[in-house]
Amino acid sequence: MLIFDLKGVFIKKRKSFKTEIKMKHNFGAGPSNLPQEVYKEASQAILNLNDTGLSVLEISHRSKEFDEIIIEAERLVRELLHVPRAYSVLFLQGGASTQFAMAPLNLLPKDGYATYLDTGAWSTKAVKQAEKIGETKILASSSDRNYSYIPKDFEIPSDASYFHYTSNNTIFGTEVFETPKSSIPVVVDMSSDIFSREIEVSDFDLIYAGAQKNLGPAGMTLVIINDDILGKSGNIIPSMLDYQAHIKAGSRYNTPPVFSIYTSMLTLRWLKQKGGVQVIEKENIVKARTLYEEIERNTLFKATADVTDRSRMNVTFVMENGDLEAEFLEFAKKREIVGIKGHRSVGGFRASIYNSIGIQSVNALVDAMQEFEEQKTK
Ligand SMILES: *Cc1c(COP(=O)(O)O)cnc(C)c1O
Repeated sequence: MLIFDLKGVFIKKRKSFKTEIKMKHNFGAGPSNLPQEVYKEASQAILNLNDTGLSVLEISHRSKEFDEIIIEAERLVRELLHVPRAYSVLFLQGGASTQFAMAPLNLLPKDGYATYLDTGAWSTKAVKQAEKIGETKILASSSDRNYSYIPKDFEIPSDASYFHYTSNNTIFGTEVFETPKSSIPVVVDMSSDIFSREIEVSDFDLIYAGAQKNLGPAGMTLVIINDDILGKSGNIIPSMLDYQAHIKAGSRYNTPPVFSIYTSMLTLRWLKQKGGVQVIEKENIVKARTLYEEIERNTLFKATADVTDRSRMNVTFVMENGDLEAEFLEFAKKREIVGIKGHRSVGGFRASIYNSIGIQSVNALVDAMQEFEEQKTK
């Protein structure tokens, strides 16, 4: 049969693939590195998914094969985050950026108003979209000190339609560790820290996250939503932007991002095998502490965020002498360390240490910082 001939050709070609590629320490902020096991299994599935003779890229999104994938993906999300039954789990497209508009469209009535915490570029973008849909108020902002901290002195009004915040500020390197107390629905952008630490899903009513930081390849957005808050805005909502339409269709209102869902599912399997969120959180704490301690100790570097609000996922730091920054980037690159250049709005460096970045990569960066210091202070 032709299919086996084809398969034979594939297998032959595969033999010449280098399966053990020497990987770099990629501290990029997103898309980010994924576990090696996930890369291997995903590449195998591109050639031949579970011996079906089909690539994962060509299976129907209505097939039994994909049923199994999406069911397992949802089950793993529910299990790893202990998602309550009353919440739906959706795999959508459009990135977190589409959620900036989708959340207000579904939750903000004409006579209501939305409240936002402004902790940096992503919050600001979320606010901009909400303003197009209805009245929007910023309750507090840390723009006065270039978003180097999380504002804490604010109260969430009980008559607002919802409260929105960004749990981890990927660009500025700050993270909200304590969920703000609220009597109204809480909407959170967890794009860059979902699955990195334990959360109480019932503290939130809408959680969204683009896949490409801690979950899988770009193309899929994870949404976890309390169904009770839907259907109340009175807005006319195009179906693709309507959570209820996606819930009704089981994330298959149209063709979902099959490959991104599949690969995210593999990452969640990997996480479960490691022991789940509780275990990865401990590792993430150690990784972040190791790096921040070196930044504090090293005479050349200094952290940019306030101690209490420092992100465990994106570590932002600069050099006391900015003239040396380009040189350190090169120095690190020679040690296979890439992706550490800071975002232009902070400068310096940003090391993103998502779930799949191992402690050995953090140690490689710390070693580079120490060697560079020795060289410069001799
Ligand atoms: C990366 C990121 C986004 C943007 O995500 P897209 O999927 O590219 O739209 C939004 N919010 C946060 C916190 C991010 O880190």
